[in-house]
Amino acid sequence: MTTSTVRCPFCFSEKEAAAPVCPTCNRETEIPASLRKELEDLIRIRDQLRDELAEKEARLSMGRGRPTGGPDAAGA
Ligand SMILES: [Zn+2]
Repeated sequence: MTTSTVRCPFCFSEKEAAAPVCPTCNRETEIPASLRKELEDLIRIRDQLRDELAEKEARLSMGRGRPTGGPDAAGA
């Protein structure tokens, strides 16, 4: 039988994945249900913002390709 281990995010020592508390630093490594819900929401918002950003960047790079020069081209 193999016990799966994970690395403690606080002290970086290996601990049993099933153990909610790290035996080395005694910190809780289990994410509470309420925080997990919040994390899911934040990830969803982050993905939305990422899509929005990609769309805006695409629009911006399209605008940059205009044939007429900006203020830089006026002097020369
Ligand atoms: Zn630890």
